[in-house]
Amino acid sequence: MIPYGRQRIDASDLEAVRSALVSEFVTQGPRVASFESELSKAVRAHHVIAVNSATSALHLACLALGVVEGDLVWTSAISFVASANAARYCGADVDFVDIDLASSNISIAALKEKLIRCDQKGLKKPKVLIAVHMAGQSADMSEIFELSKEHGFRVIEDASHALGAEYKGSPVGSCEYSDITVFSFHAVKMITTGEGGACVTNSPILAARLQQLRSHGITRDPAEMNEPYPGGWYYEQQELGFNYRITDFQAALGESQLSKLGSFVQKRNEVAHWYWKNLDGLGFKLPTVEADRTSSFHLFVVLLPNSSSRKAAFESMRAQGILVNVHYLPIYRHPYYSRMGKYSPADFPMAEEYYNRCLSIPIFPDITEAELGSVKSALSTKIGFQNLF
Ligand SMILES: *Cc1c(COP(=O)(O)O)cnc(C)c1O
Repeated sequence: MIPYGRQRIDASDLEAVRSALVSEFVTQGPRVASFESELSKAVRAHHVIAVNSATSALHLACLALGVVEGDLVWTSAISFVASANAARYCGADVDFVDIDLASSNISIAALKEKLIRCDQKGLKKPKVLIAVHMAGQSADMSEIFELSKEHGFRVIEDASHALGAEYKGSPVGSCEYSDITVFSFHAVKMITTGEGGACVTNSPILAARLQQLRSHGITRDPAEMNEPYPGGWYYEQQELGFNYRITDFQAALGESQLSKLGSFVQKRNEVAHWYWKNLDGLGFKLPTVEADRTSSFHLFVVLLPNSSSRKAAFESMRAQGILVNVHYLPIYRHPYYSRMGKYSPADFPMAEEYYNRCLSIPIFPDITEAELGSVKSALSTKIGFQNLF
């Protein structure tokens, strides 16, 4: 069996976790701050708030930007459901923007059009746009930033796929074009803490809110108290927060994994190059990377000629032990969203086409040349779908 993605945990990761577990603190100790500080250097952002998942991070990011019931949040039609659910947790309405078929990222043309339509028809515009960096390649953030200034919305980057990627010479996460960037440390992502995630931001005000919301809405800082400070035992819950904290042994794993991020990204890019070289001419549309960015290649998504060839390819690859996947069903097609009756697939022609044709083939740092060869021969096999073109 060859999975589409797999973590790499080595002896130094095990030692980092072991030493955390035998230390005084398994949670709320020094390792979370240490991981945050290393991540802040890696992505060149001032503040990092590590949490227990990217889903939690997206929720906190929406809350910190003031998303409440009745607000509108837009995100990409093609993403993992968590990108939209975060807004729903806050009671906000969600709408989607169509994608570019070439990058599978949010389409700037579709975004502009949708904003202009709001202006023309006097419709509500989004308070927040959540841009998703699909498969590890950044969306067109400078364009999104310009539109956010023109139309008055805030920007969250869902960079769950894109730790270690670059955009216009800066690491994804530097927040040059956004308020907050979110990363995931789930097992299949670029680095792992088992479950885990982080918010990064350059705003000290947003960072303080994110920190407080991560831990019940409680503050222990004497300077922050609403009431007179009676002594060292005292803390205040100032708003309704959550327990979204990550543990110290996870942070220890995260810091150890982060030190290898560069080599992980390099390996994934080598796999991408192997596919570009060896799958050329087989009839798929292979992913491309824009000249002003580098991809972390969380996923390698090929496009099949049509939905029937995709189904045949999926089944043939699975039957041959290659655990290909489909990333993703358009969010508005999930029953939770579709039964709201607000979304029409006809409004998202590129997301529909992408979904019908996409197939994620294996990519991870430890994949071997022999395994890549098996992927290629399975993709080329007669009992597969070649004959369906
Ligand atoms: C994985 C993922 C998430 C959620 O990450 P968790 O850490 O599992 O909560 C959110 N958005 C995208 C695009 C993802 O791929």
